[in-house]
Amino acid sequence: MLLNVYTSSTMRSMIFAAQHRSLEDKAQLLVTALLQTDELQEYSVRQTVNSMEHINTTRTIVTDESAVALYDSLETGSAQGKLVLFPEIMTALGGDDVFFCRFEQEAVESRTAVPLMRNGELLGVVYLMEYDTDQGALISALQRNVLSISVALEIAIILMSFFFSTAFSRRMQRILHSVRSMRGGDYANKIRIKGHDELARLGREFNELAERLDASEQQRRQFVSDASHELKTPLASIKLLSDSILQNEMDAQTQREFIEDIGREADRLGRLTQKLLTLTKLDSALEEEREMTQAAQTVDKVVRMLRPLAKLRNVTIECNTQDATLMMVEDDLYQIVFNLTENAIKYNRNGGWVGINLTCEDENVVLQVADSGVGIPSESMNYVFDRFYRVDKGRSRAAGGSGLGLSIVHDMVKRNYGEITVEARSEGGTIFTVNLPAFEAKEDGV
Ligand code: ADP
Repeated sequence: MLLNVYTSSTMRSMIFAAQHRSLEDKAQLLVTALLQTDELQEYSVRQTVNSMEHINTTRTIVTDESAVALYDSLETGSAQGKLVLFPEIMTALGGDDVFFCRFEQEAVESRTAVPLMRNGELLGVVYLMEYDTDQGALISALQRNVLSISVALEIAIILMSFFFSTAFSRRMQRILHSVRSMRGGDYANKIRIKGHDELARLGREFNELAERLDASEQQRRQFVSDASHELKTPLASIKLLSDSILQNEMDAQTQREFIEDIGREADRLGRLTQKLLTLTKLDSALEEEREMTQAAQTVDKVVRMLRPLAKLRNVTIECNTQDATLMMVEDDLYQIVFNLTENAIKYNRNGGWVGINLTCEDENVVLQVADSGVGIPSESMNYVFDRFYRVDKGRSRAAGGSGLGLSIVHDMVKRNYGEITVEARSEGGTIFTVNLPAFEAKEDGV
């Protein structure tokens, strides 16, 4: 409807403007011709007007300076010799050009009045009136066309919005259906929405989210099943040992050995649950307050703690440290250094060697733990940081391992914005390298 109103009024203004130009041109021509006559008399005016046949208007009036008509083209009801008090003539007598136009009853009616001035003196007014039914018919026809076009357009718009809203709600239904399936734990129900609009993008984001949730759900299941399996083994041993003590007649010495075995299995259970708790803590995004940690001091503490184990396994520890400050929880760093060094001792050979190197390079603190031990086969290198992964199950179990130590180290390094890599030493053994961002003192000393 708005389009209809807008188009009609634009066309009407264009026709009015053309009408204005044409009527004004005619009035100016008549004014010029009249000003060439010596005196404005009824006779001379009539002669001038008659000589200008192309000024073909519905009504032409020429008045003197006091609004008395010297000429009126109307035959019946002529105003000649009478006062003509049309508003346009009155305004033109004030010295201004006037134009008026309207569209009414299928016709365009336009009027103009122009003052006749000679050397600044007002001589009279030329008044022209045109009543154009052809232009009126044109406007009416155009209005009818625009109306039918706008009605057709409006129907098309309504149909299109109906079509689009149906398509939109169908696509929304599909998304809702998938969200409901996902709520019920079915992550395989992907949304299939074609296109590049917002809804298609929402569908793609949703699918990615579902994939990630699916992966983390599988990881969680795997973790629970691995953890249960790990807990089951020492518990089964404890059960077996205690049953044997109860059912069999055995001497005090054997009984004691069995009870010591039970104690060892209980220790293993304790260590395992501690590691599981650490992993759960790492999985929860809970941030602990970071502190300034002197890395060399932490490394020294770990070495002091592990020297007895190294002595027991006949392994020597060489430690080289530089002053380096880190912004992290000290317990995290302790755990990282401890797990790597303990592994380096556990998976070493008799008379072997462990080297710990701590340096500060540019903005990084680099910790290297190298050993002369059994090494890690190249096909296992990619998996050693996975939870519950062990290269040699028997050796790991014998060494009291659970396959969780390196994954804890990996998660802790990541949590502190660092990187960890593993490589084989050319002379045999393994090198673990940890890069952590060094604490940078700001200029104001903070
Ligand atoms: P575990 O508790 O079994 O030691 P880890 O996650 O600490 O678990 O280590 C995973 C596996 O990687 C170990 O079972 C072991 O086979 C291998 N590994 C780790 N560190 C070393 C090392 N320094 N030398 C040789 N093998 C290692």
